[in-house]
Amino acid sequence: MDYICSRCGCRSFHYNRSRMRMECDSCGTPVYDQQHDQQLMQYDRTYSQAMDHLAAGNWEQAINLLRPLMNQYPTEKKLYLAALRAATRDFSDIGMENTANRAIASETWRKLKRLNVMTGEMLRYSRRRYDKHREELGKQRTTILTWIFAAAACSLLAGMFLCAECYLLSMLCAAGLVGCLYKAVCFQPVTVLKKLMNTAPDYQDDPFT
Ligand SMILES: [Zn+2]
Repeated sequence: MDYICSRCGCRSFHYNRSRMRMECDSCGTPVYDQQHDQQLMQYDRTYSQAMDHLAAGNWEQAINLLRPLMNQYPTEKKLYLAALRAATRDFSDIGMENTANRAIASETWRKLKRLNVMTGEMLRYSRRRYDKHREELGKQRTTILTWIFAAAACSLLAGMFLCAECYLLSMLCAAGLVGCLYKAVCFQPVTVLKKLMNTAPDYQDDPFT
């Protein structure tokens, strides 16, 4: 290597495995690594550009820039947080209908949890997502109950018409009863009930599964 130690003038060097760098044989001064500096510069520039896209609301572009950085620096927490922010549109997309974004959000959430990062913003988002889910379940329950009440009304009317010997009307009401029950079953009442009875989750858990 055509290089002279800046500290002692020595010309021979060795690789220090634990520090992962070249060092002077006599004094241990690390060899200036231009490539490493360039890598860091590239990282800083790409990250800064991703942050600009994030600020401008260009979520896709931000994710595209962050992805290679996450591969290169897998323990850099701020990268995952930024990608999560982009995938959830700055924590404003509660429904997360876009499957690609949901996958990224789920992946980055898990990484953050693994790296012991759980911000208040993340927890509030998780809670909002859970509340919205409960709200939807509540709506489904109301719909199911409505169909069950309609079925009960049909059965009552069918009985009354039967007593009054109005067989055709009685048959129609019986058909209505079957139809209403079928509708109620279509909404999977058992599943909805089970989900409603579940206790609140740990908000630190991945809310995208
Ligand atoms: Zn030296």
